[in-house]
Amino acid sequence: MTADAGASGVDANGPYYRLRVAQVIDETADARSIVLEVPAELAGRFAYRAGQFLSFRVVVDGHRLVRCYSLASAPGLDPAHKVTIKRVVDGRASNWMNDHVRAGDELEVMPPNGVFCLRTRETPIVLFAGGSGITPVISIVKTALETTTRPIKLLYANRDEASIIFRSELDALEASHPDRLEIVHRLDAVHGFVDAPLVVEQVGARTDADFYICGPGPFMDVVESGLQSLDVDSEQIFIERFESPDSGAPAAGSSVDTSAGNVAVVLLDGNETEIALGDGETILAAARRVGLEPPFACEEAYCGCCMAKVLEGQVEMRMNDGGIDQRQIDEGWVLTCQGVAKGRVRIQYPD
Ligand SMILES: Cc1cc2nc3c(=O)[nH]c(=O)nc-3n(C[C@H](O)[C@H](O)[C@H](O)COP(=O)(O)OP(=O)(O)OC[C@H]3O[C@@H](n4cnc5c(N)ncnc54)[C@H](O)[C@@H]3O)c2cc1C
Repeated sequence: MTADAGASGVDANGPYYRLRVAQVIDETADARSIVLEVPAELAGRFAYRAGQFLSFRVVVDGHRLVRCYSLASAPGLDPAHKVTIKRVVDGRASNWMNDHVRAGDELEVMPPNGVFCLRTRETPIVLFAGGSGITPVISIVKTALETTTRPIKLLYANRDEASIIFRSELDALEASHPDRLEIVHRLDAVHGFVDAPLVVEQVGARTDADFYICGPGPFMDVVESGLQSLDVDSEQIFIERFESPDSGAPAAGSSVDTSAGNVAVVLLDGNETEIALGDGETILAAARRVGLEPPFACEEAYCGCCMAKVLEGQVEMRMNDGGIDQRQIDEGWVLTCQGVAKGRVRIQYPD
């Protein structure tokens, strides 16, 4: 999979579109929802499946950050795109979004992405959400209730009662679908942390289900280990990680073997940096190694946050798990977390 430099430069907004904030909703003391207006001409571009996310580019203290937020709204059921952002202690973008975004503001947003979605099956659906992990999960629950006849069970873990996001909406869904939806709330302050035996108990006889897991790392690990002890096939397990995995990229300032002679000239934030690349090193890893701060999130080719445009030369992507679509590839964009240069290349991150 390769992208060659096209004749044109970087578009004004690159892969981002400016969307107006229609409404900001306080959900809990540390989580807010942002409802976006998608103009009719972008409706196709912003069509989404339950479980997908949007990537936002924001400027915090002079630093441009790109962060993914799952759509908590359900396509075709809710009138507008809605994301819900929970504050992370000392987190830059999440606190900025909670503190500064107001109705009427415009945000830079990349179209929906992601594969944490429903598949066509008759089997039950069992979902495990922790904290802000409820966002894609509630969208999947609503969509599955509306478009399938599958029985659904949700275990939702939170610190305490006050941290439960979408409490009244979840109560209403359960009340209107008593024979199809069962929701179990677990509160750390009351019940302690979720552990593997609890996961086993909650799954019960539903070992043929599709399992969806989204929440803090340790929560997801416990759920996964519970499912593994039940011999659930990995194909039945869908996981959305809100944290970037450790990429194993060399730390800033470390050295690599650059004898292969590949070079990337990287344009980022108005600066141009020439980088001698290690053998097989991705452009994102190289940029970080020399101390640049390019945008990235998943590093697994599905979020699209690290996209840059190839201006000269040839960049080969190791893989693409939906992070970039064919139209963008045709326009010369690549995922730099997967992009390996052949010879000398010049790439530009979106302005
Ligand atoms: C596919 C996907 C979907 C997501 N959906 C949602 C969602 O629906 N809702 C939601 O709330 N979140 C979601 N996230 C998480 C979100 O993208 C952000 O990762 C999260 O908001 C934290 O970003 P931040 O900029 O606030 O934190 P960051 O500034 O990136 O900080 C993250 C952590 O690192 C620590 N840290 C920061 N800088 C340093 C430093 N210099 N040294 C040491 N530690 C440091 C912080 O203390 C914090 O604990 C999703 C993530 C992904 C990948």
